[in-house]
Amino acid sequence: MITGIRGFKDILPGDVERWQFIENTARKVFEDFGFKEIKIPILEKTELFARSIGEDTDIVEKEMYSFLDRKGESLTLRPEATASVLRAYIEHNLYKEEPIKKLYSIGPMFRYERPQKGRYRQFYQINAEVLGIGDPKIDVELMVMLLHLLKRLGVEKTDLNINSLGCSQCRPQFRETLRSFFERRLNILCPDCKRRFTTNPLRIMDCKVETCSKVVSDAPSILNFLCSECLTHFDEVKEGLRIFEIPYMVNPYMVRGLDYYTRTAFEITTNELGAQNAIAGGGRYDNLLKELGGPDIPGIGFAMGVERLALLLKERKDLFRFPKVFVAALGSEAQNNAFRLIAALRLKGIWAEMDYGDKSLKSQMRRANKLKVHFALIMGEQELKSGCAILRDMETGHQEKIDLSKGIDELIEKID
Ligand code: AMP
Repeated sequence: MITGIRGFKDILPGDVERWQFIENTARKVFEDFGFKEIKIPILEKTELFARSIGEDTDIVEKEMYSFLDRKGESLTLRPEATASVLRAYIEHNLYKEEPIKKLYSIGPMFRYERPQKGRYRQFYQINAEVLGIGDPKIDVELMVMLLHLLKRLGVEKTDLNINSLGCSQCRPQFRETLRSFFERRLNILCPDCKRRFTTNPLRIMDCKVETCSKVVSDAPSILNFLCSECLTHFDEVKEGLRIFEIPYMVNPYMVRGLDYYTRTAFEITTNELGAQNAIAGGGRYDNLLKELGGPDIPGIGFAMGVERLALLLKERKDLFRFPKVFVAALGSEAQNNAFRLIAALRLKGIWAEMDYGDKSLKSQMRRANKLKVHFALIMGEQELKSGCAILRDMETGHQEKIDLSKGIDELIEKID
């Protein structure tokens, strides 16, 4: 038997209903906030991710699925969506259409991480990006939208963490202060962080190794290094959240796993998922469009993990749909009628089922029960002669005769 790949999950019926609910709700909420969907390829040139996410990040260093194609070009299965969305935005000159573009995308991402509950190698993300505006109101609007979506999904016990990562003006000074802080503790850092110390000390703050996180908890706070513009921006974000009565925590050590963030960074966590507690995260990336060869305009976005949300919705049995009516037919003539009837009902948008073998009434009713139908429509020889059928409400047990000789309108009225 050939099995699936480790960390790559099948999402089977019984689970897929939660995925559909999450995706459909996200589409509705995002479109109410003026976002349009963009569908992007899952494969891109490796360079796109290396340049945007950053060479020293965990993702680029050790988690990318990269390979050479038949012409020797290095390609990568996308580990995140922002870089691809921005590539498409620049390539198709979307900035020329409208000054502010709001885009969302839904699809699988690929990272070679150690699989565990809530962490997979192929996982689904729902992303939203706002390109072309640097106003802190947009940061607030995006967080409001994300929290509203979570509320619509029934996920309310969450924490919002925010931070500011500064900009190209103020970050260099912080980076140097951080470097001298880590220099004095270099011997206790993990081998990766020893290297990051030279290449990109900010990345040490995102290290998952326990000894490194301990060191980080005493590190200087980036918030003490923000320039006046970044400070004002951050204050306005906090003020906006207060206006919307959104509780938040400021976490100066949250740098997120991608290098491109500037100013606002945020993350939503829950304590109901164990170790993999982040449901969504995002931030501003005001230099990224320019760095990728696009216009010098700001952007902000977030990504939400569908698997982790689906785990939180595990108990939602109400998301399952059941057939409206099961037609139990006895004898071949009645079976033929039933066959035409279920087709007619389905064309009217009513989910109808029947049994295709010539089974006893008892066995057909057993199947009707198993399918959890609302109604059973029983067509025996007796009923066939009179053009009638018996409609049984499976919940109450109430039965009544329905005349089918003049069509199915009466039946539809009773069951729909
Ligand atoms: P990131 O792109 O790393 O900021 O992740 C955004 C969100 O995607 C996280 O908050 C998680 O919900 C989800 N996520 C990230 N990595 C994984 C993974 N390996 N498996 C499942 N979900 C993930």
